[in-house]
Amino acid sequence: MEALLTLLIVTGGHDFEREPFAAMFDSFDGMTWREAQHPSANDSYTPDAAEGYDVLVLYDLNQEITPEQQAALLALLQRGKGLVVLHHALADYQAWEEWRQVVCGRFYLSPVEREGRTIAASTWRHDVEIPVRVVDPKHPVTHGLADFTIHDEVYGGYEVLPRAYPLLTTDHPESSPTLAWASVWGGSRVVSIQLGHDHFAYDDPNYRRLVSQAIRWVAEKP
Ligand SMILES: [Zn+2]
Repeated sequence: MEALLTLLIVTGGHDFEREPFAAMFDSFDGMTWREAQHPSANDSYTPDAAEGYDVLVLYDLNQEITPEQQAALLALLQRGKGLVVLHHALADYQAWEEWRQVVCGRFYLSPVEREGRTIAASTWRHDVEIPVRVVDPKHPVTHGLADFTIHDEVYGGYEVLPRAYPLLTTDHPESSPTLAWASVWGGSRVVSIQLGHDHFAYDDPNYRRLVSQAIRWVAEKP
């Protein structure tokens, strides 16, 4: 029998619909999960604590992290722990530049100055029909998905770095063009997904397929 994949889901700092969110992860075959909530969640990145899970899923909105916890988290990724970043977790650690490189993008909670220009704060709007285009149906993360429409929260003006590999795009005028992307940091695969505000996303079969395949893909080393 194949071993169960164990997920650590990090939450805290942003409300969400807990029951349908849990139901989505419960629906994934071959996976088991537990939750770590802030403020103590950042203690989960030490080598000892990280023995207890295969993939880290971030669904937090957190800015507080000590230099020691930062170093532990980066070391974890150097060693190849898979990472999936969902929705509002794109706004984590605004003051930590290296984290922007890990995620290969960022949702900006406030305007920032970078290389002599101002990047505006990112935007959001709830309950939008978002057309989703699958960039490469052969990619393991998007395998079996065809273009779809999802009822979800749209984010605008968030950043996706040029070295990110786009997985999903949209032409919705209030969204940044790339909705999901893959990258590598250290020894780890990273998948970042803008979608996923509430039960409309959690219950959507396309979203479930996307998230479960992202988890399976990052569980393997690049
Ligand atoms: Zn949201």
